[in-house]
Amino acid sequence: MAEADIALIGLAVMGQNLIMNMNDHGFVVCAYNRTVSKVHDFLNNEAKGSKVVGAESLEDMVSKLKKPRRIILLVKAGQAVDDFIDKLVPLLDAGDIIIDGGNSEYRDTTRRCQSLKEKGLLFVGSGVSGGEEGARYGPSLMPGGHKEAWPHIKDIFQSISAKVGTGEPCCDWVGDEGAGHFVKMVHNGIEYGDMQLICEAYHLMKDVLGMDHDEMGQAFESWNKTELDSFLIEITANILKYRDSDGKHLLPKIRDSAGQKGTGKWTAISALEYGTPVTLIGEAVFARCLSSLKEERVEASRSLSGPQGVKFSGNKASFLEDIRKALYASKIISYAQGFMLLRQAAKEFSWSLNYGAIALMWRGGCIIRSVFLGKIKEAFDRDGDLQNLLLDHFFSKAVQDCQESWRRTVGTGVQHGIPMPCFTTALSFYDGYRHDMLPANLLQAQRDYFGAHTYELLSKPGHFIHTNWTGHG
Ligand code: NAP
Repeated sequence: MAEADIALIGLAVMGQNLIMNMNDHGFVVCAYNRTVSKVHDFLNNEAKGSKVVGAESLEDMVSKLKKPRRIILLVKAGQAVDDFIDKLVPLLDAGDIIIDGGNSEYRDTTRRCQSLKEKGLLFVGSGVSGGEEGARYGPSLMPGGHKEAWPHIKDIFQSISAKVGTGEPCCDWVGDEGAGHFVKMVHNGIEYGDMQLICEAYHLMKDVLGMDHDEMGQAFESWNKTELDSFLIEITANILKYRDSDGKHLLPKIRDSAGQKGTGKWTAISALEYGTPVTLIGEAVFARCLSSLKEERVEASRSLSGPQGVKFSGNKASFLEDIRKALYASKIISYAQGFMLLRQAAKEFSWSLNYGAIALMWRGGCIIRSVFLGKIKEAFDRDGDLQNLLLDHFFSKAVQDCQESWRRTVGTGVQHGIPMPCFTTALSFYDGYRHDMLPANLLQAQRDYFGAHTYELLSKPGHFIHTNWTGHG
């Protein structure tokens, strides 16, 4: 008997939590997994006493679903998604909907949209953010693909997503093809940037100001009551204060070699591919790469010297405030760059993206959730066609207010030999973006000199000429 509202395939951590979330919101979910024994385990444990039903096979699962059938895949990204789609296609009818909630590459989602459309099926690629906790109690959801599917899944998606303000869901339709997964990818890239910026602030506090871990924890705790109010600042305060079973702080004992799963790298690659200067996310990815060269760095630290005898002699409290403002200004640059990439992708793929809705989707439920994203939403509400966040009055003023502190922080950090790839690239980007004349005139001349690549004169745009630079007269 068709009893289930939706099916979910993939009973690992994300799938199980999302099912229980849907169950809490009154939806009957049919659970299935490649290894079927996990369905039994789930029904006998986490889902015991709930309305969740299980399936012994894909055929069994399909027979239990109301039409149009809605099936979420939450399996390992890549081949596993294609394998399940291939098995599902012969079992489904026109108009049925397959939703991929994994961290799929956006191009795979676009390809799957095209191939399933030919078969009369609807496909949605949805970013799901917030990890295990988000999946259970309210994730940020970023669905894209075949828009005809949206009316059939909107109620479920918006019911289970995180809510902000007066109950606004952190979930809305993103756009065609792989737009949902593209937005999720940029979200993850921004997450890399936010994390690295916090790490740079920590490094400055520790090695320029000589603060101990409890002091640093208190600083982040108080920053969380300012414009920086966010999940990542909150957990940083908790991490700094956390003590191990021996009573000592745990953080300094952790090996300084960062891992990565790839979505930050994908964002940086897309930025290069579409020629968008998303420098901060790029630097955040490279900072993780540099950190992973632990043995090499230990070796280098024995022979390469930094500035000698530099000691901080200024006012500690005022420099701490400088660091906070540098972090805030750099964060604004990072989000401005992220939205530039979204804008470029929208142009590239003819996606109609609603930037304010995207800011709202990230406002709650996900790792980058923050009060700040509410301000971004307001900026796009003021002007839906806003060319760049930095051109919005609120953000231009915010950067202006932070500017002196930001420059002092970067200058002091450089003098002390502290690596700050994201603080510095953010400032360089800002200075580049606000200059009406950059030294690229010389670049063009060099290109023309050695390669006859031609150049335009400022006075004659669109008219390309070549000069014989070694000729006389
Ligand atoms: P996962 O470890 O990425 O995947 C495990 C699930 O995939 C299991 O159900 C497993 O089935 C199935 N699977 C693996 N290889 C398969 C194959 N070749 N064919 C068929 N099924 C296969 O699980 P997860 O951490 O819950 O994540 C699920 C998806 O959500 C992933 O795409 C992940 O990137 C994304 N995501 C995860 C998080 C997070 O915080 N973990 C956050 C956001 C998004 P068996 O039990 O049979 O092995």
